[in-house]
Amino acid sequence: MGFSSATPAPRTFETDGPAQTEACAAELARLLEPGDVVLVSGELGAGKTTFVRGAARALGVTAPVTSPTFAIGNRYDGAGLGISHLDLYRLASLDAEEPDLLADYVGSDRVAFVEWPAQAESRLEGVRARVTLEHLGGDRRRIEIVFEPDAGAR
Ligand code: ADP
Ligand code: MG
Repeated sequence: MGFSSATPAPRTFETDGPAQTEACAAELARLLEPGDVVLVSGELGAGKTTFVRGAARALGVTAPVTSPTFAIGNRYDGAGLGISHLDLYRLASLDAEEPDLLADYVGSDRVAFVEWPAQAESRLEGVRARVTLEHLGGDRRRIEIVFEPDAGAR
């Protein structure tokens, strides 16, 4: 896939189905370290959760990775690290919520993936990558990944 940690410029991929999107996510996952946060943006159905599923699999999660429904996020055990999957779609404003709402989901021992990150972005430390998915019609999707190799200096 030619995606390298030495490449801070945005990289763009096109996929033909969920399996390819998961594979693309697995490539990114190879570059992630505990403490990293990955923001995942795009319209409903663009494939955000599919992307997170692929990354989580690659990081050793064996449990089914599904959209968080009752809480703002799900927590999983990966291979030697924790994985969090947050979906902040219904979060109107983080200021109105408990200040440490995110604390259970981010930390130096886990990688966190955040769908609909806008409300929380200013509160999230350790953002290592920004992923944007876009519909191209049918099963095609465009995936842009901005990876910040130096974001881990914290
Ligand atoms: P989101 O979290 O952005 O709302 P989901 O990942 O939950 O999106 O859903 C994406 C839907 O689109 C799934 O039903 C998936 O099977 C389908 N799909 C079709 N083609 C692709 C693709 N290339 N990448 C990701 N998902 C795809
Ligand atoms: Mg989703």
